[in-house]
Amino acid sequence: MTKTRPVTVVGGGWAGLTTAVELARHDIPVLLLESAKQLGGRARRVPFENNIAVEGQQEEDSGDYIDKISVDNGQHLLLGAYDSTLAMLRTVGISEESVLRREKLALNMRRRNGRDVTISAGRLPAPLHIAQALLFASGLAVSDRIKALRFCRALLKINFTLRDDESCLHLFRRFQLTNDVIKTIWEPLCIAALNTPVETASASVFLRILGEAFTNRRSESDLLFLKVDLGKAFPDGAVNYIEKYGGSVRLGQRVTELVIENRQIKGLKLPNSEIESEFVVLATSYFAAHKLLAPHAALVEPTQQLTQQLTKLKSQPIVTVYLQYPEHITLNANMVGLVGTTSQWIFDRRIHGQPGLMAVVISSNGTHMKLDNKALCAQVESEIGQFFPGWPKAIQRMVIREKRATFDCVAGCNSYRPGNYTPIQGLWLAGDYTDTGLPATLESAVRSGKRCAQAIIRTIHQSGDLS
Ligand SMILES: Cc1cc2nc3c(=O)[nH]c(=O)nc-3n(C[C@H](O)[C@H](O)[C@H](O)COP(=O)(O)OP(=O)(O)OC[C@H]3O[C@@H](n4cnc5c(N)ncnc54)[C@H](O)[C@@H]3O)c2cc1C
Repeated sequence: MTKTRPVTVVGGGWAGLTTAVELARHDIPVLLLESAKQLGGRARRVPFENNIAVEGQQEEDSGDYIDKISVDNGQHLLLGAYDSTLAMLRTVGISEESVLRREKLALNMRRRNGRDVTISAGRLPAPLHIAQALLFASGLAVSDRIKALRFCRALLKINFTLRDDESCLHLFRRFQLTNDVIKTIWEPLCIAALNTPVETASASVFLRILGEAFTNRRSESDLLFLKVDLGKAFPDGAVNYIEKYGGSVRLGQRVTELVIENRQIKGLKLPNSEIESEFVVLATSYFAAHKLLAPHAALVEPTQQLTQQLTKLKSQPIVTVYLQYPEHITLNANMVGLVGTTSQWIFDRRIHGQPGLMAVVISSNGTHMKLDNKALCAQVESEIGQFFPGWPKAIQRMVIREKRATFDCVAGCNSYRPGNYTPIQGLWLAGDYTDTGLPATLESAVRSGKRCAQAIIRTIHQSGDLS
């Protein structure tokens, strides 16, 4: 067997790693270049740093073990419907049980008025388990539950597909869902899934997620909580796999330029070197891909259309506030939603072996982005104080702001999300923003990476380069 020349993958996020694993699995030599000092991209482990000093708090309040732990750049939640991600973990030899805890769909939404809403998937087969969950939801008026059921039945009828995209809020109002149900169920779910406000979020993408999670198997609506940091969850195993199958991974390698001649990729430039390559995958974010492609847009005419598509994509932030409380403090759940507050979801990191550590997630843009870290922590802690009055003050705090966490998943965005192919021969794209139909998620990144690798494999086989 003659080995093909290596495929170069630019970017070691979950899309790039998947592409590289899939190519290595098919005996195609691969070189992965990542600009950062670590893999994982927007889903990576970071060391915990107590980075918010609070006046009047004594140093000795702090437990010193926290200095040695890792957290994530943002709390991530997976779904049972993440088929490609789960398959990719198996490929690299990671068992689901070793990194994830699978739990039946259950939502506990806390409200200031004390009328908490709890929903949990029933035992009937899909999609009846969701109907059962809505029918027996506590904290909602009977009429609201019936309207929510009718909404789901109508979505089933249209197979969770819309002819024309619209905003999620428009869709909810069209189906006459009341404000109470929108605020306590659909809006939190939409923001969590799409990281985009309901007023602008794409209903088509939202329904795609609901359709995948609710309609086929009951297990697809399960919530999968990470038990390990994001590095152990996939990147560490992926790099071992790539290297075992002859590929290589280089960190701290920023690609600064694409070498393109006669509409064909020839290689890449880095600050102090150049790499020849006939096959290149840009597995970066959309804005990094745009930066590399833009200089060629004027020279290679069809590339202009692609760069214009990329220009239409915008970003949304996600902020995670880590608060360390004494070890005995617990949510008594893996996750709790807060309604009508800046803090949207609280995750109890006990499951990661980090008792007392809470990750408070605030998705999408809002007034919180104008607060400095200290003021934001004060606000989040005061909200937690209202819902959990018995909790003491946090001992340590860390704020992580991912300003470009995901693309802004607005109505109509599917029309300008690019595919894996580009007009430049040998150049492919992979990443959560490509046209998977899903929002920016790990599953979208992994599906895109897998699909990209399969397209390259087909091309290489057709050209007879691998015999
Ligand atoms: C705070 C936060 C919370 C999230 N929560 C969830 C969640 O709960 N569930 C979920 O499914 N998803 C969640 N997501 C989304 C998920 O993390 C992303 O969709 C996914 O990680 C994107 O992967 P990617 O490989 O497409 O892109 P990226 O992770 O952005 O990877 C691109 C890589 O390319 C590298 N790169 C860029 N330019 C160059 C260059 N010139 N040369 C070399 N390398 C380069 C970057 O350093 C990066 O490592 C969350 C994201 C964030 C930020």
